[in-house]
Amino acid sequence: MIPYGRQDIQPRDIDAVVEVLKSDFLTQGPVVPRFEQTVATMTGAGYAVASNSATSALHLACLALDLGPGDQLWTSPVTFVASANCGLYCGARVDFVDIDPRTYNLCPSALGDKLRAAEQTGTLPKVLVVVHLTGQPCEMAPIRDLADRYGVKVIEDASHAIGARYQGEPVGNGRYSDITIFSFHPVKIVTTAEGGLALTNDEGLANRMQRLRSHGITRQAEEMTGPSDGPWYYQQVELGYNYRMTEMQAALGLSQLERLEQYVDRRNILADRYDNLLAELPVTLPWQHPDSRSARHLYVIHVGPDATLRRRVFESLREQGIGVNVHYIPVHTQPYYQDLGFSVGD
Ligand SMILES: *Cc1c(COP(=O)(O)O)cnc(C)c1O
Repeated sequence: MIPYGRQDIQPRDIDAVVEVLKSDFLTQGPVVPRFEQTVATMTGAGYAVASNSATSALHLACLALDLGPGDQLWTSPVTFVASANCGLYCGARVDFVDIDPRTYNLCPSALGDKLRAAEQTGTLPKVLVVVHLTGQPCEMAPIRDLADRYGVKVIEDASHAIGARYQGEPVGNGRYSDITIFSFHPVKIVTTAEGGLALTNDEGLANRMQRLRSHGITRQAEEMTGPSDGPWYYQQVELGYNYRMTEMQAALGLSQLERLEQYVDRRNILADRYDNLLAELPVTLPWQHPDSRSARHLYVIHVGPDATLRRRVFESLREQGIGVNVHYIPVHTQPYYQDLGFSVGD
């Protein structure tokens, strides 16, 4: 079976991990900061905070933006559940903005309509999570304009989009958002086994995410209540988590990042090949917005509204060893979200 996504592990990746295993630190050593610095430099972001998954990075991002009970988080319904669950972790309510049928990404004009209506009823969201589905960046310029007009914070869920570009600039540079998240799960573009990372240009947000990643504990005197007791002293000043990335994961990630451009180029070549080979079929092929260069995490074909046809195409591709999937089952149709009041057809 050709899987829909699979890691590429080279001998140098293995050497990098083994080297860490023989070193003094398996966690909280020098490699995680080196990995963070490398991703920040590559993307042009000011600060990077690595974590043990993109899901935990999304949670840290929401916490750092002070999302809590009484607040709302809006996101796209066509995404992995983690893009929405991070709001629920914080006790906020979640709601969904419809997508653009050409890109499958959150639609700026649907967002504008929904924000206008929410302003009337005093139900504006605090945080918007935009998802760069399949690796194709969302239309960030109009989204940022709307977010500024209505005072909304923006998180980019770029789990699919490390190595992608928007208007010629790398996703993650933070020009249009407060925080950007990458995932390093093995099906994604580069892997650390499990792992995620948050990028921001705001030093305060970076410090906050770092502290929340490690129990809410600080060793910085200026973050403490009262004077420090001595060089051994630390304080827990808020409720945090253990969301840390290990040194082995960071070593694997650093080694993988050296091939990021190569991976994205190769994925674009393969996507062009699919475009040509599938051109005559009665399916809708991926449409690329001229402003974006996709990282091509997924290649989506839309077979139309006939669910029986979709099933037949799915099963016959699987029978022939092609591990296709359905991306994604819309979040608001999940039983857990139905219990929160959402319905199929919303
Ligand atoms: C994979 C994925 C996540 C979660 O990533 P993990 O690193 O597995 O926690 C979040 N959002 C999207 C859109 C994803 O595809």
